[in-house]
Amino acid sequence: MDLQWLRVVVVGHVDHGKSTLIGRLLHDSGALPEGRIEEITRAGAGDADPEWALLLDHFHEEREEERTIDSTQAFFATPRRVYRIIDTPGHREFLKNMVTGAAQADAAILVVDVEAGVLEQTRRHVAMLDLLGQRRAIVAINKMDRVQGRRGDFETVADAARTLLSQTRINVHHVIPISAQHGWNLASRAAALSWYEGPTLFDALDSLAPPEPLSNRPLRFPIQDRYELNGRGVLVGRVESGRLAQGQTVLCLPSGESAPIASVERFLERRTSAEAGESIGLTFDGMLELQRGAVLCDPQSPPKMARRIEANVFWLAAGGWAQGDSLVLRCTTQETPCGIERLQRRINSSTLEVIETDAQRLEPTEVGHVALTLERPIAVEESAAGGPLARFVLLKNQTISAGGTVTRV
Ligand code: GDP
Repeated sequence: MDLQWLRVVVVGHVDHGKSTLIGRLLHDSGALPEGRIEEITRAGAGDADPEWALLLDHFHEEREEERTIDSTQAFFATPRRVYRIIDTPGHREFLKNMVTGAAQADAAILVVDVEAGVLEQTRRHVAMLDLLGQRRAIVAINKMDRVQGRRGDFETVADAARTLLSQTRINVHHVIPISAQHGWNLASRAAALSWYEGPTLFDALDSLAPPEPLSNRPLRFPIQDRYELNGRGVLVGRVESGRLAQGQTVLCLPSGESAPIASVERFLERRTSAEAGESIGLTFDGMLELQRGAVLCDPQSPPKMARRIEANVFWLAAGGWAQGDSLVLRCTTQETPCGIERLQRRINSSTLEVIETDAQRLEPTEVGHVALTLERPIAVEESAAGGPLARFVLLKNQTISAGGTVTRV
């Protein structure tokens, strides 16, 4: 049986229990190395319950030490599949990770404190998920132990969460009363919540359909670099989606030429094929003038070459954007100078309210619905199609300043 993967992002207002939940998920699924619990219990200075949030901090520290590339990920497994948890340590990091694609997820868990209810960051995170194209959420109403498991308290907050999500395109798969602290309705049920008949969080996660594997999508191979090796040009990059094989004809954008792949190589080892996620080198016979920024594609379903796109952008950097600023758009390895031709709507990212139409400025943390004019055409896809060419970042003064998703080509 193929081991399934699912990437889950955990969002919610600060202090509503995200870290506690993640720590507990890791523990209840048996993902923790031996001895860790004892260590944490000691650090928690004699509390009866280990401090689960502390546990997570430990993971962060460890990963910092290891200097791994993905510093915000943890894993746990159920018998059904492996979950990769994408944590959101702070609001800013969250926004940045989400918009730059570092935190792409297949589903979201929205944590809401049953006593505090839906708050500003709850709204803001939901708005972000919606704009980024996330379509599946499980809502966990947390800290049910604080209200002695009362159903009425749960229903009130569950209704507020459902109402919030109904204003978006996100589908609510389940709304589950939990206590992250006590492990209620995570891996197993709890007597205090005996009135609840829905699935536990683990069962709810396991019931989500797996994402379509990237390797089944049309080929997208953005070229990162070109090396000369034994007199031949080797084009290196990562297969972002699809598959490729020796002899297969690929379309090269932006030139529009088509050519068969002469060889597939990896660390000087000869291969005949590769698929999404692999970093490889390719060679071609003949004189293809390919270099960084070109994209090799499936000729049957190519992306569009665009000079003008509509997009949602999230402005992150201090200073914001003002009419006349010059920008650079980067989409995978493609880069081009560009300008915001029109800022159609300026949106408050926490309330999703339109602050202004046809605006001249965009402030940090605001979302803009923009029309971008690109100096050179690049290969892009609309985010509804979900391909790797639907996301981009904008650089101002050589600094990543905003992230965006393409809404229309
Ligand atoms: P985060 O900011 O969303 O990551 O929240 P934390 O996980 O740091 O939790 C904030 C506080 O709420 C901590 O003091 C936790 O111990 C506490 N907490 C989290 N989950 C529960 C719960 O299920 N019940 C109770 N009583 N406290 C909880």
